[in-house]
Amino acid sequence: MIDTGAAPQAAAALPGRVAVLIVGAGFGGLGCAIALAADGEQDFLCIDRGSEVGGTWRDNTYPGATCDVPSQLYSFSFALNPGWSRSFSSQPEIQDYLRTVAASSGVLDRFRFGVEFLGARWDAEQALWRIETSAGPVAATLLVSAAGALSEPKLPDLPGLADFGGAVFHSARWDHRQQLAGRRVAVIGTGASAIQIVPAIAGQVARLDVYQRTAPWVLPRRDRRYRAWERLAMRRVPGLQRLLRGLVYLGREAMVPMFVAAPRLGWVASRLALANIRRAIADPALREKVRPHFALGCKRVLISSDWYPALARDHIELVTEPISHLVAGAVVTADGTARPADVLIVATGFAAAEQPIARLITGTGGRTLAQVWAERGMQGYKGATVPGFPNLFFLVGPNTTLGHSSMIYMIESQVAYLVDAWRRMRQHGLAAVEVDAAAEQAWDCDVQRRMRRTVWSTGCRSWYLDAAGRNVALWPRTSYAFRRLTARFDLPAYRATPADGASAGG
Ligand code: NAP
Repeated sequence: MIDTGAAPQAAAALPGRVAVLIVGAGFGGLGCAIALAADGEQDFLCIDRGSEVGGTWRDNTYPGATCDVPSQLYSFSFALNPGWSRSFSSQPEIQDYLRTVAASSGVLDRFRFGVEFLGARWDAEQALWRIETSAGPVAATLLVSAAGALSEPKLPDLPGLADFGGAVFHSARWDHRQQLAGRRVAVIGTGASAIQIVPAIAGQVARLDVYQRTAPWVLPRRDRRYRAWERLAMRRVPGLQRLLRGLVYLGREAMVPMFVAAPRLGWVASRLALANIRRAIADPALREKVRPHFALGCKRVLISSDWYPALARDHIELVTEPISHLVAGAVVTADGTARPADVLIVATGFAAAEQPIARLITGTGGRTLAQVWAERGMQGYKGATVPGFPNLFFLVGPNTTLGHSSMIYMIESQVAYLVDAWRRMRQHGLAAVEVDAAAEQAWDCDVQRRMRRTVWSTGCRSWYLDAAGRNVALWPRTSYAFRRLTARFDLPAYRATPADGASAGG
């Protein structure tokens, strides 16, 4: 069976009551803890089922794991890293960065690892969240979900998987005990993870079959090692790194019209991508197989300079025939061909359109957030709050993901919003804030209206869309617009409950 890599649960002493409980210790949870502490709130706890900080960067340890956002943008604004070794950082380097930031932040004593979030129920009488964890119960006034959108592996429903017999694991739960050298390996998927894994393992394996359902758009990766003098300059010249970061940020923001207003602008990028294919692949049949048949940008644009060269190697086959089922030691495609495999790597992505944590959170009406979202679609005011779920804040909530720039910028915007909310609640003596249903609906209508013109709505199947075809993942404007809209907690959009218990309008 597939090893989902659930972390072992450890008994850790938890305080019974905290002001703020944060679930998840990735960029979101760590950034939130640091911001709360900087704002004077020390009474918080961050729990994570893993063994250390890092979130997706802790979990995705597959060979070749590298960030596809430039290094200069991929750090907290308050902790720039002049030490990045390359223009696109690798997973180990990002994980080291997070460890370093965490260690110097002074907040790690309020992190509990190996503790799984099992559920939370809103206690209206006491105006707090009653939270169950694998290490016991905790009550908290504010509950912050920093569990991430790309944390739950999505596994394909393949008939015969139980009979396969060989090693099977998901890209985000890499089984490092498995030797790949000299073995026959099958990779399912050709998304952001697979296109990094395949070139990274190509040199070791005896044979590699890559099962492609949809050919992605892949632009060349302009990656290079920073020279020693560049790193020295970033360290020593005041403001230099911030200036570089600003320039990279502006360059990324300039891409937004191509995604949200004029998909035809993607024509130039698609020429570059097709040239990327021609440069690396001589075989016309293989060129045809890797040629995408949807508008560039509709799915996440991938970047790689070694994906196509890897596919052109003799011992690698790109299989475009759909997988029919598995049998002992082989993957069988719809045309009846059985390709032997010792190891099956499942790079089929994540349950991003669901936010699995929603199944575990029960709000004012006694219904879980998953039940509410099943009826209305996954949506939230400013990607952060949902009617019926007072004092619950999301980081990387609905429609806050970016297709063009750094998620850390969005996370910092959402952290600022919730820290301001908490500050205002204390200032005004509020026990609870619950977003007004009309405000949330108006926000979602605006997001979905804007979505209609975007390249993401041009007809492809992507993880951005839910089962009904609504884009519940991406933010359809500039990241700067999001920053402006979340700069202050807007109390008038909320129903506020004073600490004396009487309900009051915002
Ligand atoms: P993904 O982009 O969702 O790709 C999943 C791949 O698996 C797709 O090729 C998909 O085909 C295929 N697939 C899914 N179910 C399948 C099935 N039942 N049978 C056959 N093929 C199937 O997942 P991912 O590559 O893990 O990446 C997810 C996201 O994580 C990325 O978009 C990105 O945001 C992030 N990420 C970032 C980095 C980075 O920074 N370098 C690296 C990895 C991931 P279809 O296209 O036909 O659905």
